[in-house]
Amino acid sequence: MKVLAAIFCAVFSLHAAFAAEPTLDIYWIDVEGGASTLIVTPNKESVLIDSGWPWAPSAERIYAVATNAGLKQIDYLITTHFHVDHFGGAAGLSKLMPIKNIWDNGALDVDPDSPGPNGTRFSTADYRAISSTRKVIAPGDSVPLKTSKSRRLSLRCIAAHKKLAADLAGSANPRCAGAEPKPVDPSDNANSICLVLTYNGFKFFNGGDLTWNIESELVCPLDHVGNVDVYQVDHHGMDISNNPLLLQTLGPTVSVMDNGPHKGGSRKTVERLRATPSIKAMYQLHRDLRGDQPFNTENKYIANLEENCTANYIKCSVDQSGKTYTFSIPATGFSETYKSKPKHM
Ligand SMILES: [Zn+2]
Repeated sequence: MKVLAAIFCAVFSLHAAFAAEPTLDIYWIDVEGGASTLIVTPNKESVLIDSGWPWAPSAERIYAVATNAGLKQIDYLITTHFHVDHFGGAAGLSKLMPIKNIWDNGALDVDPDSPGPNGTRFSTADYRAISSTRKVIAPGDSVPLKTSKSRRLSLRCIAAHKKLAADLAGSANPRCAGAEPKPVDPSDNANSICLVLTYNGFKFFNGGDLTWNIESELVCPLDHVGNVDVYQVDHHGMDISNNPLLLQTLGPTVSVMDNGPHKGGSRKTVERLRATPSIKAMYQLHRDLRGDQPFNTENKYIANLEENCTANYIKCSVDQSGKTYTFSIPATGFSETYKSKPKHM
C-alpha cells in the first residue's frame, strides 16, 4: 500500500510539475489597425512591441491584456518606428502602469509621414516625456531577458534603420532570381525595427511595418532569417509590404495580421498568404468590412467580426520544449495547436 501511495505521489507530483510549467505567451492586442504585440516570458518578463494609437482605447486595451496576464509593469517597450499607430499609446499606458525601458530608433519629433489634425504632424512629445530608461537600438542588439538551459530564450533585433545585423548567418536563396524590386520607400516604415524571438524550438518574426525592398534584403541574395513558425504579417497586411520572397523564404506555419475593419488586409496580401504553401492558419484581429475588400480568412481565425467590437485578442502559448504552440481567441473559445518546425535555418 505504501509503495502504491509513493508511486501515486511521484506520478502526481510529476504531473503537477508538468502542468505548472509556464508557457511563453504572445498576445496580439486589438488596437484597431495599429500594432501592439505583447510577449510575456515564462519568467513573467514582458516586452511590448508597439503601443497603438494615442487616442483611447489603445492604452486601455493594452493595460487590460497586460493586467490579465498578471503584469504590474512593462519591462521593455520596443517602438518599431515613429508612425502614430505604433508609438501613440505609450504615453497613456505609462500613466496606467510603469514602462521600465524604451528601445527605439531614436525618437523623431513628429510622425514624418501621417497627416495630423489641421495640417499638422502628430507630435511625439508625450512619448518622449515618458520617464523610462532609453536606448537607441542597433541591429544585432538582444533584449536581456532571462534565459537558461531548459528555457533558451532570445529576442533579437536583426535589422533596424535599413541595416541588417552584421553577424547574421546567410545561405544562398534560390528564390531570389524572381526578385521584383519596387520604388524606394522614403517613409519611416522602411526603418522599422525587425525582431526575431526564439524559445527553445519555436521562432517568431515581427517586422513592424517593413516594406517590400527591405523585406527582400532580409532574405536576398542570402537568406539571413531562415524559416519561422509564426509570422506577424508586416504592415497590417498592406500590399506595399509582404513581399512573396519573404513569405516563402520564412515559410511560416501561422500568420497573424493586426488589421482593422477598414485598414490593412489588402486583397493582394491575403492572396499571397494563401499562396504560401507552408501556411496552415491565417489569423486576423479584425474581419475586413470594406465592401471593396471582400477578402478575409475563415471566420474562426478572426478575433473581431463586428465594427463595434469588444477588442478580442489573439494569444499564442508556446510550451516549454518549444515544440508545440497553441493559438487561441479566448473570447470565442477557439483554439488550435501546431508543431514547431524541426529546424529553422
Ligand atoms: Zn502601422
